Amino acid sequence: YAAKAAGSQLMIYTAELDESADAAAQLGADLRHSLDDGDFRVVYQPIVELTTTRFEAVEALVRWHHPVRGFVSPVDFIPVAEDNGLIVELGEFVMRTSCHKFAGWRRDLGAAAPSYISVNVSARQLREPEFPDVVAAILAECGLEPAALLVEVTETALFGGGTAVHAVETLHRTGVRIALDDFGTGHSSLGLLRTVPVDVLKVDKSFVDEITEGGGRAVIVDALIHVSKGLGLRAVAEGVETAEQAAYLRELGYEYAQGYFFGKPVPEPDFTPRALVVDQA
Ligand code: C2E
Ligand code: MG
Ligand code: MG
Ligand code: MG
Repeated sequence: YAAKAAGSQLMIYTAELDESADAAAQLGADLRHSLDDGDFRVVYQPIVELTTTRFEAVEALVRWHHPVRGFVSPVDFIPVAEDNGLIVELGEFVMRTSCHKFAGWRRDLGAAAPSYISVNVSARQLREPEFPDVVAAILAECGLEPAALLVEVTETALFGGGTAVHAVETLHRTGVRIALDDFGTGHSSLGLLRTVPVDVLKVDKSFVDEITEGGGRAVIVDALIHVSKGLGLRAVAEGVETAEQAAYLRELGYEYAQGYFFGKPVPEPDFTPRALVVDQA
């Protein structure tokens, strides 16, 4: 009886694995169709200068309007697109769309436009030998200088060196700036900050979440602003949801932040100057 029970458990487990493998395969096939049908959009989230509350930059984030399932989170489909290689085509769509969008804001808004556009790039894209050329071509076609673009990569994507690091070095040499995204959550190594040309550290939301929990939980956020300043990097705090967090980050010396408190990702951000109160914690 015990053997039978164990056997049936094993079967259930296997069935679940099959089901998730099937689901990923289905999602992968749907991605292909949606790329052809134009079901992807890009939304933009402000990155704010804490002292002036100016919208310093925007991060481009991809959105999939699945024909049947509706909204599917990038957290669920980006890994699938990385596995089947479609991230290369999808990533190029995001890069082209957001660079054109940014060039349009500059034309329309002049000095009120954000200073740069931040675009997420996967390891899989960095390993494409043509990637730096594709980026250069997109910038040229939009009439943008390389410094208008910030490429966000994760520590994990650069872990172990290789082609991805080489691509980052090539991009950086052309003047494109580099951010380490979700800093502190991946294969973290402070050594990476010395061996890879990094301009911006994006301090992950999980650390920002802890700062108002009390009991000295701000230790990492506090340490990372010192590391950033010491190395001449810009630090951006991610996932700021409350005025209290914003005020505390400012107190710690953070100059830039991003999060729902300042603005959610939207198709058309409103760059009108506003008075955001961050001092009232
Ligand atoms: P990320 O690059 O770290 O982007 C920040 C994520 O946090 C976004 O989720 C954003 O909507 C969310 N966020 C921002 N502020 C807050 C906040 O105050 N509270 C909360 N709860 N969330 C906040 P999103 O758009 O779902 O994207 C998730 C991840 O998917 C991104 O994390 C990035 O790793 C990946 N991703 C999104 N778009 C792209 C893309 O075009 N290319 C690649 N390669 N990856 C992408
Ligand atoms: Mg990002
Ligand atoms: Mg991030
Ligand atoms: Mg993050």
